[in-house]
This record gives sequence, C-alpha cells and structure tokens, in this order.
Amino acid sequence: MIREVRRSPHFDDRPEGEKISLLVVHNIALPPGEYGGPYIDDLFMGKLDPAAHPYFAEIAGLRVSSHYLIRRDGTLIEYVPPEKRAWHAGASSWKGRERCNDFSIGVELEGSDDVPFSEPQYETLIALARGLYERFGRLDIAGHSDVAPGRKTDPGPWFDWPRVHSALA
Ligand SMILES: [Zn+2]
Repeated sequence: MIREVRRSPHFDDRPEGEKISLLVVHNIALPPGEYGGPYIDDLFMGKLDPAAHPYFAEIAGLRVSSHYLIRRDGTLIEYVPPEKRAWHAGASSWKGRERCNDFSIGVELEGSDDVPFSEPQYETLIALARGLYERFGRLDIAGHSDVAPGRKTDPGPWFDWPRVHSALA
C-alpha cells in the first residue's frame, strides 16, 4: 500500500475527549467523471484554481478536506492526521448524533456514483480500515449518503458494501 502524506490546511481539533467511532466513505472526481488529475489534491490543499474548469468556480472557495484519499490505482494519501478533525461530512448525523466530522474519519475514493471502484481501491480501503481499528478500536463504517441522506449520494450504488463488511467482520 503506497502512502503519501500531504498536509491540508483544512482541519482543526476534535472536541475535547471525543472518541473516534465512525469511518465515512465518500467518492470524489475533479472534474466530475475524470480521474488522475491534480485537482482533488488542489481542493484539499486549498489551491484549486477556479479558472481551470467551469465546475471549479463553484467549489474553489470551499474549505474541505478528508483524512484520506484513495486513488484509482489504490494509492493512499493522508491529508489530515486521524486524531484531528477533517471537514468532509458537512451537515450530518449518525446514530442520533449530529456533526459527524467530530467523531469520524473521512475516506474519499476517487470515483463517481455511476462507475465501479477499482480492485486496488478496495484492497487499500480494507487495509486502511484494519489499521485504523488497531489504533482506535472498531469503528462503524457508513457512506456519506448514510450520514447525509437526501443531500449526498456518495459513495453510490457501485460501492460493494457486502465485500467491505465481510472483509472487516
Ligand atoms: Zn462525500
């Protein structure tokens, strides 16, 4: 599992004494439907050029991040240390608790709602989750669409939940 560490400026501290209890799975592609470019990295690093693509004008000012990004080839990049709070879930709730960013770790899979994820992405995600369970104890795992229903659709219908749940059982 290749791992790069980059440091997004978009993070802050979790609430005092907060216990990490949830992994939130997302998908992202910038521009939508295109893979492999520098733009997801640029977004998380706060450097997205609003002029580089028409879509970017809408999102270039967003201060967002995710703890992890898994590229199509399975490369894992850490943008925010898991002990810190990344800004990935937005308005959200899980098991009756609001503000999932407080107690979750965000993982973005480079992808789209309408395309299958790659084999290396599943391998990396499962290995990442196992490592996080060793550090933080067993975590719930949910999609962005589960914590923000009606507002978010990712990781979408192609995400193989049975495979991930059984690998992590
Ligand atoms: Zn998302």
